[in-house]
Amino acid sequence: MQTSVSFHPIFSSVPNDEYLARWRECIGRTGRPEDFEGVSTNKPTQIENIVLLSEEIKVPVGLRPGGEKVPCPFCATTAPKFIRGRMAYFPDEHAIRFVGHRCAQVHFGDNFKHAERTFRRQMACRSYIDLWKEVAEQRPGLVQFVQPLSAIAEDLHFTIEQLDGHAPGFRSFLHKELAQTNGELFLRSDLGMTDRLGNAVVQSKSIGKAAGLRFLWEGYSAARDLQRMKCALADSEHPLPEWHATSPEHPATDEVIRRGRMLEKALRNILPALADVQDGIGFFSPKNVGLIHRWGNRPQTPFAKFEFGFAGRQLLVRCRSIAGEYFANVLIPESIQRGAVPAAPVSELLKKVA
Ligand SMILES: [Zn+2]
Repeated sequence: MQTSVSFHPIFSSVPNDEYLARWRECIGRTGRPEDFEGVSTNKPTQIENIVLLSEEIKVPVGLRPGGEKVPCPFCATTAPKFIRGRMAYFPDEHAIRFVGHRCAQVHFGDNFKHAERTFRRQMACRSYIDLWKEVAEQRPGLVQFVQPLSAIAEDLHFTIEQLDGHAPGFRSFLHKELAQTNGELFLRSDLGMTDRLGNAVVQSKSIGKAAGLRFLWEGYSAARDLQRMKCALADSEHPLPEWHATSPEHPATDEVIRRGRMLEKALRNILPALADVQDGIGFFSPKNVGLIHRWGNRPQTPFAKFEFGFAGRQLLVRCRSIAGEYFANVLIPESIQRGAVPAAPVSELLKKVA
């Protein structure tokens, strides 16, 4: 245990990453954050400003003599006080200290909240700068995947325009019907028997699961999502501006965060967009169309008429029910008839952002 405090007003700006990495390494090795070169342990005299330099670090106090806790610059400069703390810079004093996470919060109040927000923005910038590098390495594979997928999504969008144009409401009507059983389609058959109460025994038998629950949903947005992905990939070819963790905040922070978020969000949407496209293609597959037709023509349907099938390159919808009448001739683009979807690149990146 130290019996005296130290004060090193030697930092005219935020210490650099190399210094912080060495400090962090020293904490992990010794459990003594307050002993590192240049670290002050006296009580801060000016508490208007604080800059956080690390997330909460759990100090391995077991490495300290007797496993004692770390002293707190605020309330116990030479006595054991805390285990979790943060590296912090005090710009008015040109000093750095390791402060207990709760004490700093109490002493700095709103200034701490502001420092926390600034710190989180810095962390975001660091991670987006890393993301930029990773995407640069994987861009060719991503572009090769996204371009053709986007073209198919545009074709699916074209079918939606036709379907909604010819038969407004049909998509949401069919979606509602299919969603009741999560796409599972049942035929009911009367077994010709009665139960104890004299009711006919009817058996429900599944004939398969229909594709299209994603595609029929009114919020289906694969084409838009993939268009955004193409824009984000194009933007990722331009380097991010020069950025450093500074105090006050570096002027490029807003731009790094804005473009980083856009790219991250676009990457996160890639695999859902792939599933959306696959579901759209599955909806128009001959097997699925046949299945839905068979289901719509089951005995005791709510439909007075239900025709759902292909005529050449068109899907014909002829449906009459209590909900209304739907008639549509939907021209199916070749890419959807072909039914092939580009394979997703095997990418740690996509898993990481998911
Ligand atoms: Zn304290």
